[in-house]
Amino acid sequence: MDVGLKQLTRDLVNIVGQDNAFSDRPTALAYAKDTMPWDVEPHHMPYAVVRPADSREVSAILTYASAKKIPVHTHGSGTSLVGLGRPKTNAIVLDTARMQDLKIFPERGYFEVGPGMHIGNLRKALAPHNALLPIFPGSEPIATIGGSVSVNTSAHAVDASLCKPGDYVLGMEVVLATGEILQTGTQSTRKPAGIEATKFLVGSEGLLCVITRIRMRLIPKPHMANIVAYFNSTEEILDTVMAMYREGMHTPLFFEYLDEKSSKVGFEAVGLEAPPGAVAMMSMHSATEVGCREKARIFLEFVKKANPIEARIVSDAAEWDKIWSSRAEAGNYVYRLGSTFGSEITPRVDKLKLAFREAKELILNLDSFKGNEFYSFGHIGAPTIHGYAFIPTKDISNEVKKAVTLEVREKTEALNVKYGGCGGEWGLTAQRAGFLEKKYGPVYTQTLIRLKKTFDPENILNRGNLEGWL
Ligand SMILES: Cc1cc2nc3c(=O)[nH]c(=O)nc-3n(C[C@H](O)[C@H](O)[C@H](O)COP(=O)(O)OP(=O)(O)OC[C@H]3O[C@@H](n4cnc5c(N)ncnc54)[C@H](O)[C@@H]3O)c2cc1C
Repeated sequence: MDVGLKQLTRDLVNIVGQDNAFSDRPTALAYAKDTMPWDVEPHHMPYAVVRPADSREVSAILTYASAKKIPVHTHGSGTSLVGLGRPKTNAIVLDTARMQDLKIFPERGYFEVGPGMHIGNLRKALAPHNALLPIFPGSEPIATIGGSVSVNTSAHAVDASLCKPGDYVLGMEVVLATGEILQTGTQSTRKPAGIEATKFLVGSEGLLCVITRIRMRLIPKPHMANIVAYFNSTEEILDTVMAMYREGMHTPLFFEYLDEKSSKVGFEAVGLEAPPGAVAMMSMHSATEVGCREKARIFLEFVKKANPIEARIVSDAAEWDKIWSSRAEAGNYVYRLGSTFGSEITPRVDKLKLAFREAKELILNLDSFKGNEFYSFGHIGAPTIHGYAFIPTKDISNEVKKAVTLEVREKTEALNVKYGGCGGEWGLTAQRAGFLEKKYGPVYTQTLIRLKKTFDPENILNRGNLEGWL
């Protein structure tokens, strides 16, 4: 860094004002921490945190940082589950929280939003326009639209049913590492074919640019009908998902599952009797209520062919809320009551059961820790297997936490390579960067590094995430 800390703070105050530049230790600590289980170390600590108001201020910060060769880490809400949210090197943290301006243009068929708006608030603001926001993470009260588009995560939604959020992004305003402001895409609802920057900047995980505005299509909100099915075992749910694709069924918008252990803790947490086995929850969608009912009836018949203990349409909204929130409660349980190490395996659909069995086996037989438990829940219709190694205490050393994280990642990634998947939700750099080379080979990663260098010659943006540092 070509500047002292005091001077850096003064220079940043000149750009964003006294109230929006911080270099005190408590603020730095808050931004160094993310959802990862291990402790903050000195190299994670930001030099300073800035909260720019708009693309002009972002541009000034990046121009300055590029000239002085200071890394900049872009922060949405820091909820990434693969370590994207934690700075990997001392850096200026650029928090997008002040950029929340929202303009809805029903007559143009789109809305424009600043990156810092929380998903939950954006969904509420779109509701009067009868519009669906196609992003459904469990973290929606705090995850930002900028963070979600930069990871391109659809979360609960089944890809075959709704695609990724990037498919609905018409254009963006972005600031390049060198400070130039770029407008991409179109104001038409007709998306451009061919080589158009929106397509490779969506999902670029903050490595190529800072997104300062997102233009997204208004999607008419469908009617929904919900189905719950209780199975003796998770494997029967996997059979159902495999048959759903094999038989060309219309896929539900959401198709979540709780394995035997997760359903017990999830249902008990919401005050429902624990089910005897595993649970599947499916939401069918259609433009009309009648269409929705018919789709749900057809899907229920299909589910019943797998001989579940019970399967039915849940018409009572309060009952569905309870059943649905058991899924989030299972997550709360494992993350709150111990140390939890997650994975996402997205195998070829016909290999789903094999991949699940192997994931369970390897997570129950870790070398880095003995005696952990296995929990599994998530977006199975997508199909995503989330396999969690759960250690029912937080009182384990940092070294063990890192070793378990790495072992779970490496071994579950090997399953993605073996069974044709990639992991489709949480992002592909930070902890997952090593996977790219295993999956696609060195030419792919070298090409990515060259692309990054072209966009960001001094490698200031999210330095360390492409390198795969912890
Ligand atoms: C309880 C819980 C449930 C979750 N459920 C899901 C789930 O179901 N599915 C799922 O996929 N994820 C889930 N997540 C992970 C996470 O919430 C999502 O990945 C979310 O999209 C990240 O948003 P964020 O605002 O926290 O971004 P951050 O974590 O702050 O950032 C993520 C990445 O985006 C970059 N970034 C952020 N804003 C910008 C910007 N404006 N321009 C350029 N780059 C930017 C960051 O630098 C970083 O690389 C969950 C997390 C939690 C804690």
